[in-house]
Amino acid sequence: MTANSMDDAAVTNLQNYLRIRSVHPNINYDECLVHLRGQANELGLSVQEFEPVPKKPILVMTWEGQEPTLPSILLNSHMDVVPVFEKSWKHPPFAAEIEDGVIYGRGVQDMKSVGVQFIEAIRRLKNQGIRLKRTVHLSFVPDEEVGGRQGMGEFVKTDGFKKLNVGFALDEGHASTTEEYLVFNGERSIWHVNVICPGKSGHGSLLLPDNCGEKVRYIIDKFMDLRQESKKKLENDPALTIGDVTTVNLTMLSGGIQSNVVPEKFTATFDLRLALSVDHKEFEDMIKRWCSEAGDNVTYTFDQKEHYVPLTPLDATNPYWLAFKSATDDLKLSIKILTFPGGTDSRYVRDMGIFALGFTPITLTEPELHQHNESLKIDVFLKGISTFEKIIHAVANV
Ligand code: ZN
Repeated sequence: MTANSMDDAAVTNLQNYLRIRSVHPNINYDECLVHLRGQANELGLSVQEFEPVPKKPILVMTWEGQEPTLPSILLNSHMDVVPVFEKSWKHPPFAAEIEDGVIYGRGVQDMKSVGVQFIEAIRRLKNQGIRLKRTVHLSFVPDEEVGGRQGMGEFVKTDGFKKLNVGFALDEGHASTTEEYLVFNGERSIWHVNVICPGKSGHGSLLLPDNCGEKVRYIIDKFMDLRQESKKKLENDPALTIGDVTTVNLTMLSGGIQSNVVPEKFTATFDLRLALSVDHKEFEDMIKRWCSEAGDNVTYTFDQKEHYVPLTPLDATNPYWLAFKSATDDLKLSIKILTFPGGTDSRYVRDMGIFALGFTPITLTEPELHQHNESLKIDVFLKGISTFEKIIHAVANV
């Protein structure tokens, strides 16, 4: 195959993958599995399938290295995509249409393009007759877009995952608007907390004591003050990005039954993303203190409470990073290191003590994750394949 026809085949593969409607909610992943088995077959890679949670399959393609007992390289991508508002798209979201060198489709940035780039990079390495030192696994996982707990979150706990003997993983990052490539080596901890403020119910014409409205105001004030502090930190230091600060959002407020009845409770729910510098115990103690200051019987519960997961080190203690960096240096790519603002499957992998980086090789592109008209320039997509070719070659030969 010529270089041009390899490129054409890669674009066709991306189109075929984008046309599979692996869109939330209630995804049937069968079509993805059929497609991926076909890809593995073309590449001559062995396939394993796992289903730690029913209907949430994980497919792993394996390219055995020359020294298969060494810790392996995992290239992870998720198969699922977020819902679309079809009327707001100028090209149908699952048609993978190309116009003026740009391909449109749900998942083209997040992150089907990356899954295809992994496959195409392996194809090119194999075509050159290269054999890498370490085994490379390509995992395709479900349900990342709904938190990944039933996908990668469960998979990392299984024997099947342990047997992959992963030493280093690559997963998604996001697009960069400049020429700099973004590399993410950590994520904040996600806490979803409900603060329950009970009080005395009664007539709306009175000023009864033990009032749930007063209590919930106190709580909201405290959390919003913290929000202000984070906003100030960001404003005052241009070197900081959103992943460096604790974010606080009031996401739900519930209570009340009739406009002239004081209810017996209000519940305020907050989405918190704890910066890596935050001491989790101190932070929870602070919430506890606010509850007791707010008034009698104010309590809190967690819908989600992630523990602290350390950053993947970017120094000589991480030989995969050194290899990654030398590959990107050879390609003359400039790299910016950040903490990921949201949550990705990398956190489950890091939590197993495995080094993991988030890296989506898309530059000079507006990040359009979860937006209408998600798109990607074809030349950027193709450049990403050769970028991964170099990186995979380097990290799998550590
Ligand atoms: Zn994603």
